[in-house]
Amino acid sequence: MRIVLVGPPGAGKGTQATRLAEKLRIPHISTGDLFRANISRQTELGKLAKSYMDAGNLVPDEVTIAMAKDRMEQPDAEGGFLLDGFPRNVSQAEALDELLRSEGISLDAVLDLEVPEEEVVKRIAGRRICRNDSSHVFHDEYRRPQQEGACDVCGGELYQRDDDSEDTVRKRLEVYHTQTEPIIDYYKGQGLVVTIPAMGAVDDVTRRALEALKREGADA
Ligand code: ADP
Ligand code: AMP
Repeated sequence: MRIVLVGPPGAGKGTQATRLAEKLRIPHISTGDLFRANISRQTELGKLAKSYMDAGNLVPDEVTIAMAKDRMEQPDAEGGFLLDGFPRNVSQAEALDELLRSEGISLDAVLDLEVPEEEVVKRIAGRRICRNDSSHVFHDEYRRPQQEGACDVCGGELYQRDDDSEDTVRKRLEVYHTQTEPIIDYYKGQGLVVTIPAMGAVDDVTRRALEALKREGADA
């Protein structure tokens, strides 16, 4: 199964992607996590990406598409994948279509997580992530770790993302509306979009997502 997750920053894409990927037995591919891993390792790609991420802007398409393509071509993604944070504009969506077409494969669904802006702001303000792996995500209020400041999964230190500061979040939301939201219409044109409300408990949202994917004929 090949799925794209869309929704504003803080909608819960990473949180849901981890759970859905496990249920559907496909890898969770997050371009944000890949960039953060490069920043931790201080690679050239990480240095380049950081300057854009800190400003709340998108990293240029050329490097982003190359990185996503490389990850999608790993053996574990042969049978499918769940993309989180990619594509993030129409030209990335076109590049993904081109890549899939060249392999003779296609997307099964685009899952759109709908959350009101005031909730997204609250989710981002309390988000804490793990130094070892940014896909380990917690929240000050909604998902507290068992031990204050430590990751439940690996014990790593929890911290607040630099780009989760109030000013940068405002910029990221603007970028979402102007650059990312148009991909929803792009994929509606292909009949792929399933929109679900992403309010409420994490488990309820996962259940809603799996039901919606099943209705789409996905083998969820
Ligand atoms: P995204 O990947 O879309 O940016 P995350 O999955 O990182 O979003 O979630 C943002 C924050 O909101 C995290 O701190 C996460 O723990 C919290 N969160 C995710 N889903 C929910 C939910 N259903 N209810 C409350 N908080 C949530
Ligand atoms: P995320 O972890 O998805 O919230 O992404 C964090 C940041 O990484 C974004 O604000 C962008 O700067 C960058 N980023 C992640 N995915 C992409 C993408 N597909 N295209 C461009 N930039 C991206």
